[in-house]
Amino acid sequence: MSFDADFSYAFYEALVRKVQESYEICPLRDVNADIVIAADDVPRAYWRHDIDVCLSAALQMAKLEANLGISSTFMFIPNSLLYNISSSEGRDILCQIRALGHEVALHFDISETGLSEADCEDELRLIDEIVRQAEFIGEIVGEDVKSVSFHRPLQMFIRGPSNLGGLINAYAAELMSFYISDSKGGWRNGNPLEVVSAATTNVAQILTHPVWWAPTHLSAKETLKNFWETSSVGLSKTGSDDLAEKIRKTVPGVTLQLV
Ligand SMILES: [Zn+2]
Repeated sequence: MSFDADFSYAFYEALVRKVQESYEICPLRDVNADIVIAADDVPRAYWRHDIDVCLSAALQMAKLEANLGISSTFMFIPNSLLYNISSSEGRDILCQIRALGHEVALHFDISETGLSEADCEDELRLIDEIVRQAEFIGEIVGEDVKSVSFHRPLQMFIRGPSNLGGLINAYAAELMSFYISDSKGGWRNGNPLEVVSAATTNVAQILTHPVWWAPTHLSAKETLKNFWETSSVGLSKTGSDDLAEKIRKTVPGVTLQLV
């Protein structure tokens, strides 16, 4: 049963410590050429954050993790409907996250690329676009981007090749033997502390979305509503309606209730 009872920073820290009982926490850039970890090596948990909604939540999470002594991967959508990584604020946040020791990488949203359905069937065309977006982020942070994850994952790349255009594919088969995520503000397989305790693989991957996490617990619905209210300040009725639509389009799995 999905677990959504605690998205506080205290619980996040407890999860980090639980994972560290069995794994070394690493960013995706540390994936080595063959991914597979030898039986006598320390098992690795690759920890990534897909940034779907909000840059400031990503920065807060990056600071929290730096305080906990870990590095992970923060993945951004260059053509996001909800934030702008090329604004001066956006650039500053990405550079701060990198300076905290984290990896800054690409979260690829096919729906905003302008590619047609026919284009999407052409793997090379898609990979060209992925590489182009990775270079865009690389220019912002002054460092080559090494990894890609997918917002609304493309079937052709799930449990697929480990390398896409020179980037590590977060959905590579080898990275998904143990894979848990807080998508839609819930852990689908139950309390992650218990799920991690039962893990037996040498390679694990953990996906979190910083927007769901806060100093004190809030439900995903409350979080999205708060985000909409805060971001709507100063907008016209049309502007705030438009923003609500963008939130619904970006996070379709969580109902945005405005009344
Ligand atoms: Zn996403």
